[in-house]
Amino acid sequence: MITIAIANQKGGVGKTTTAINIATAMAATGWKTLLVDLDPQGNASTGLGIPNSARTVSSYDLLLQEATLDQAAQRTDVPGLDIVPATQDLSGAEVELVGVEDRTARLDQAISARSGYDICFIDCPPSLGLLTLNALGAADTLLVPLQCEFFALEGLSQLLQTVERVQERFNPDLGIVGVVLTMFDRRNRLTDQVADDVRDCLGKLVFESVIPRNVRLSEAPSHGLPALIYDHACPGSRAYIALARELIGRLPEERKAA
Ligand code: ADP
Ligand code: MG
Repeated sequence: MITIAIANQKGGVGKTTTAINIATAMAATGWKTLLVDLDPQGNASTGLGIPNSARTVSSYDLLLQEATLDQAAQRTDVPGLDIVPATQDLSGAEVELVGVEDRTARLDQAISARSGYDICFIDCPPSLGLLTLNALGAADTLLVPLQCEFFALEGLSQLLQTVERVQERFNPDLGIVGVVLTMFDRRNRLTDQVADDVRDCLGKLVFESVIPRNVRLSEAPSHGLPALIYDHACPGSRAYIALARELIGRLPEERKAA
């Protein structure tokens, strides 16, 4: 199994939208896929149609070692895609784990115990706190959504510093599989300029696939469906299919034997 954390400490940059749709695209390609919702807001869970009443076992229980992955993972309506949902409780995990020595390794311990999945995505909260550190501790690599806006690059250096610290302290092999530009609007010259600047700065790290601003992507979650199922032919869905293909191309060969 390869584990990919979808992280950026800025809110509203497209982490959850990317997590839901790339996980769906991978599942549709035949990869046995797990999505771990690690944001107390639980948007990935809602977007995949898991109501609050069905979140009896959650990512909080994984971190507190009150449940195993087998107990916490549940099926979604997407064939081949399971989810560990999130609840509000998760916002308390940070405090509850404060005195625990291996507190950044809890998620890693919980998910590496089981290898029934080919790929695992972790949808991170908008912070660089303990939850995101657990995601970075469990991940093989990072996928970073970057919104095409003026300050896009500013937050990135802070994220990269955090990655370096995680590499030094507890996950030396943590990689960055790529940066994906989101909410791209070709009619807006500013987003065009930002996209060019990001590519100048980060080069090949930036995926060629760009996610356009597309209202279908923002409508889909209210129906409890990935955009890829809600409207598989919309520009946003097509972009996520292209991104999934590109992602597979970047994964190490030995991991592709799905
Ligand atoms: P994050 O998880 O980083 O906070 P989200 O994925 O929840 O970001 O996106 C923030 C908001 O923007 C959501 O309402 C989402 O539906 C919307 N959104 C995300 N990506 C797009 C896009 N490419 N086009 C239009 N709306 C988008
Ligand atoms: Mg989110």
